[in-house]
Amino acid sequence: MSLLKQADLAALNASMEERSPQEILRWAVSVFGDRLAILSAMQQAGSVVCHMASTANQRLPVLFVDTGVHFQETLTTRDRISKEYGLEVISLVPELTMEEQTAKLGILYLNVDGQLKCCDMRKTQPLLQARGRYDGLIGSLRRSDGERRSNLPILAIDKSMSCVRVNILANFEDHEMRDYIDNNNVIINPLHLQGYSTIGCNRCTTPVMPDEPKRAGRWRHLGPWAMYCGINPTDVRRPESEAIDLPTDLVDRLLGRKVDFAI
Ligand code: SF4
Repeated sequence: MSLLKQADLAALNASMEERSPQEILRWAVSVFGDRLAILSAMQQAGSVVCHMASTANQRLPVLFVDTGVHFQETLTTRDRISKEYGLEVISLVPELTMEEQTAKLGILYLNVDGQLKCCDMRKTQPLLQARGRYDGLIGSLRRSDGERRSNLPILAIDKSMSCVRVNILANFEDHEMRDYIDNNNVIINPLHLQGYSTIGCNRCTTPVMPDEPKRAGRWRHLGPWAMYCGINPTDVRRPESEAIDLPTDLVDRLLGRKVDFAI
């Protein structure tokens, strides 16, 4: 095994800046092989990633954290993505149903501390069920999301999951995403057409006004200090000092020490 630090990825990240999402996707497949998956919350950017994988004939598994309190539109989108794009969607579920959790701990999402606990129990912990299965996770975060994502690295160490997050859409601008969706008739969560710029659990997501920030509809009842759930490590901390252990052969391939491919 070899230690991989975020700093080790600096040169590679710089070289990725000019690559298209599809090129980065192909690179990720060639490096991570069958230890690569997509992570999607079934929002439009996740659908774009799934469409790109499907059209490239990359039948990657799609991890979906099913908190048990998603909108029906989100679940319908999940089922359509699986069926129409031919991708296996793996739903990861919390230990307790929301009813069981509420009976045991009360309505957590009504205050900031409770929200952090609820998101940990219903999002972060279910995702951790897949820890150790994948060395690379393709996400759909974008710098255009703004706020803490404005400086998102394309490749980011995820210490909790012990893997590399591959943010293939990091550089994808809003107009590029709209064009991609329109030109390819991408399946999108219909709530995006009903004023929801981002979509999470039905308890904590509302539509946004045209002049509001994109994430204003997330945890609106808690105020602007609760904008992220913590499932994406780059939303809550910068991984500069973090390191993970990966097989030496993989680290060599990742860093181009053993190159037998070109992108
Ligand atoms: S978004 Fe709300 S309901 Fe969903 S896990 Fe977080 S606090 Fe709980």
